[in-house]
Amino acid sequence: MASYPSCSAVDPTQQVESPAGLYLHFPFCLKKCPYCDFYSITDLSRKDAYTHALIGEMELLASRIDCPFDTVYLGGGTPSIFSGPEIERILAAARSMFEISPAAEITLEVNPGTVTGRSLDAYRQAGVTRLNVGVQSFNDRILKTLGRIHAAEAAADVLQQAIRAGFDYVGLDLIYGIPGQSMADWQADLERAARFEIDHLSCYMLSFEPGTRFDLQRRAGQLHPLPDTRTAAMYKRVVSELARRGYPQYEISNFSRPGRHSRHNVKYWNGVSYTGLGPGAHSFNGATRSWNHRDLDQYIKSISGGNLPVAGKERLTRSQHMLEAICLGLRTSAGIGKNDFEARFGVDFNHLFGDAVDELRGRGLFNENKSRLALSAEGMLFLDSIVSRMSDQIED
Ligand code: SF4
Repeated sequence: MASYPSCSAVDPTQQVESPAGLYLHFPFCLKKCPYCDFYSITDLSRKDAYTHALIGEMELLASRIDCPFDTVYLGGGTPSIFSGPEIERILAAARSMFEISPAAEITLEVNPGTVTGRSLDAYRQAGVTRLNVGVQSFNDRILKTLGRIHAAEAAADVLQQAIRAGFDYVGLDLIYGIPGQSMADWQADLERAARFEIDHLSCYMLSFEPGTRFDLQRRAGQLHPLPDTRTAAMYKRVVSELARRGYPQYEISNFSRPGRHSRHNVKYWNGVSYTGLGPGAHSFNGATRSWNHRDLDQYIKSISGGNLPVAGKERLTRSQHMLEAICLGLRTSAGIGKNDFEARFGVDFNHLFGDAVDELRGRGLFNENKSRLALSAEGMLFLDSIVSRMSDQIED
């Protein structure tokens, strides 16, 4: 049987532990979107077999995990293909096998093409506290380019219903940098999104992930990405427009009203432990990263044979931990706490990264004070190259 580390594992480079996050991956979609590389299948006849296996994975893990969870995230795929009672059953199983705080943030991702006002009420009754609606755009032409199953007005209706259903938090996702999208289109999306006066917006720059249909079409010259300069201008627009409307940026792609951020996702950026269940889900216990089989058949087969469905794992070296602290910390507007970094790794932050930061400081890419180093909104456009430059300072 594959061994699975619990989050009580002791590691000299481990951060001070706070309650962990639990992620459940629902690997089903009604239709595959051409830009998406998350693991999902469209054969919904496997739903019951998946649910059985997911609860089986919880049973296998229950005796190995002794840390409490204070966030649960139901993502995918499209978890909203599952009904309220089905979600309730899965959450009840999780609560019976793990220590989940009664005040846990429980987030459900919703595709507007799969829900009604009644199903949203049922999710609320099932214990979901936070709803995240995958709007992507309020423009039907752009939704068609993205291959989405819903129309703009359907997404707007779902948002209104979500607000009426009384979730503690409601958020939505948008995408920008889409072939054929103009700055005026993007501005219109931002204005419409802000008018719902919800808690949270995630705005993702379109990327052409290897193996996706969009990537193949781009390589074949059938799809033409926007120029980098236009995409960068769209990024700057979202940062300024949402800040002006009361949604300051707190991570490269995430914006919220003060205090209304996603507690679950903040764990990823702060290096807090999380346990991922379901096919393709990843876990991190502060020392070791592991990942499940990205194939429903293999996932079910492992569990029905009494084995955890772990496909691989790696124990991070000290330099990998340092790199991850830099990489994740610089994604956030709060940035990296220099004292925390020094306490964790026993090195002088300014001494280690001083040369790299000095080189870049004059370009306005950093917000820095005595105790913190963060990227400016402009600097986040250069996140990869800045992390790469700083990583040169980290010795193996
Ligand atoms: S973007 Fe969402 S709905 Fe589309 S294939 Fe990916 S997970 Fe499914």
